[in-house]
Amino acid sequence: MLDFVGDLKRTHMCGALRASDAEAEVVLMGWVNRRRDLGNLIFIDLRDRTGITQVVMTAEAGEDVHKKAATLRSEFVVAVIGHVKLRDPGTVNKNIPTGEVEVVADALRILNDCKPLPFSPADSDIANEEVRLKYRYLDLRRPEMQYNIQLRHKVSIAIRDHLNSLGFYEIETPFMTRSTPEGARDYLVPSRVHPGEFYALPQSPQIFKQILMISGFDKYFQIVRCFRDEDLRADRQPEFTQIDLEISFARPDTVFAVVEGFLTAAWKTIDFELQTPFPRMSYDDAIRQYGIDKPDMRLPAMTEVHEAFTPEQLATLNIDPELPIVTIVTPKVGELSRKERDDIRLLFGDRKAAKLFEDIKRLEKSYSETVAKIRELAKPNDDDLLVIVAGARRSEDASAAKTRQQAYDIYGAAGQLRLALGQRYAERHGAFNKRDFRFLWVTDFPMFEWDEEEGRWNAAHHPFTSPHENDMDKLESDPGAVRALAYDIVLNGTELGSGSIRIHRQDIQSIIFKALGMSKEEQQARFGFFLEALQYGTPPHGGIALGLDRIVMILAGADSLREVIPFPKTAKAIDMMMDAPTPVSDKQLKELSIAVVERKDI
Ligand code: ASP
Repeated sequence: MLDFVGDLKRTHMCGALRASDAEAEVVLMGWVNRRRDLGNLIFIDLRDRTGITQVVMTAEAGEDVHKKAATLRSEFVVAVIGHVKLRDPGTVNKNIPTGEVEVVADALRILNDCKPLPFSPADSDIANEEVRLKYRYLDLRRPEMQYNIQLRHKVSIAIRDHLNSLGFYEIETPFMTRSTPEGARDYLVPSRVHPGEFYALPQSPQIFKQILMISGFDKYFQIVRCFRDEDLRADRQPEFTQIDLEISFARPDTVFAVVEGFLTAAWKTIDFELQTPFPRMSYDDAIRQYGIDKPDMRLPAMTEVHEAFTPEQLATLNIDPELPIVTIVTPKVGELSRKERDDIRLLFGDRKAAKLFEDIKRLEKSYSETVAKIRELAKPNDDDLLVIVAGARRSEDASAAKTRQQAYDIYGAAGQLRLALGQRYAERHGAFNKRDFRFLWVTDFPMFEWDEEEGRWNAAHHPFTSPHENDMDKLESDPGAVRALAYDIVLNGTELGSGSIRIHRQDIQSIIFKALGMSKEEQQARFGFFLEALQYGTPPHGGIALGLDRIVMILAGADSLREVIPFPKTAKAIDMMMDAPTPVSDKQLKELSIAVVERKDI
């Protein structure tokens, strides 16, 4: 009786066999990836999570083995005892690490069969993602997914190890809690024992981690699930994982060094050595140079070229002298056809407030000196595309605040066009193909954002963020100009995470809540316990949270978060495999004192 199943010591991994194992007796267990039946010889590619080994079943191995082998089909689960043999030079498979050897089976046991498959895990391109998600267990068997999940594991471990080496504690915080102030909609959990009352799943552990600072755990981290009921975009999931941390007595530099350290550890998992410290840029500079608060620095920055124009030229060209005039340089685009130029206008869109000059040669005919000066400032190479974005002349005088907003709008429009051109001509400039990781800290974000709809200021980060020491006096007089001690970590145009130095004094926290339009009663009702806690010797502190899913996605070179989350949800927040969400029984609803009413307005 062949009883070798379950003996881990004797079991080899399929992907691990090499020429040096020749003659060894091995036990392999795995799935039949593919089978080739040549009559006397039956080959199977046996697969486990480490890779594939070719197993040969010959007629000489005995009728039992050969007969059983003939019944094998894709994804049968088998155990093989055999010996490793070097392949003939002509049959070496250079595409797989085990390609120099094969295992000649002496014994075979079929541990389970497999019904006809909706798709084969041996296929690398499966177009229909819904089928992949419905049969996620089969999808996860595919080597690409096994790699991604393994990478995710390695990245988490590397980050944990690094933070542990710095003296951080990983501390769990509750999932059943109350609303946290990240500004998205909450997922609610009804309470059976308190009819009509609800827990909220945390949008982040923000308040708990600040409380932990008050409790004296001066270095906290957690790789933690967060829940936000937002309208889903391609790059979002309703539940996602953050690397969340908080440090007492921290300045922004303290947080930056910790994050740079664990990202370096994470990037090592793909054998990439990051250069630290990462560059830093204020929010204002990011807007001026890139028209966005998460600059993709793989392409050149925009350049302000106001000085190239005389006041008369601005008047003739209908350009507003008080608004920005910037160039966008897209490398290596080469000569453009008429149609391609028209397409740039389409990319820019129909804008009243901003003007686009996409035909520099034409501009050069009438304004050669100006264009020469522009080239001097923007320094394009001969085959680079150069376009100019400026503010259209305004008909009425505007206040300083309005002009500031309009200037930001021009930078924003130019920044969008810069990115659109970058995408459009990606093949020509090639800047997105390389393993080029441009990290950046963006600092000094505005403290508040004006909410047009509600007619009030909102916290741009969250309401526990400390205003800049130098801007305290503007909190009431000019909230729009108050900078926060808030920072983002950005990589190649994607925000990986945000954080801030927090308010650690109750009086200032109260002022901020007030500036956000929260009455004393509301402050007490929502955050009373926290305002009280702040009064019991709270150390200065700050922290950050980074999205683990996104980091792994980038490291894996994947193009969707779903490729690196074992059991993700679709864009409609559905779990295709479990088929969730679902209605629940009347009995359950009754226990929870909940009645479901039909709504026509959604
Ligand atoms: N709680 C914040 C977030 O989830 C991060 C932080 O401020 O630490 O975005």
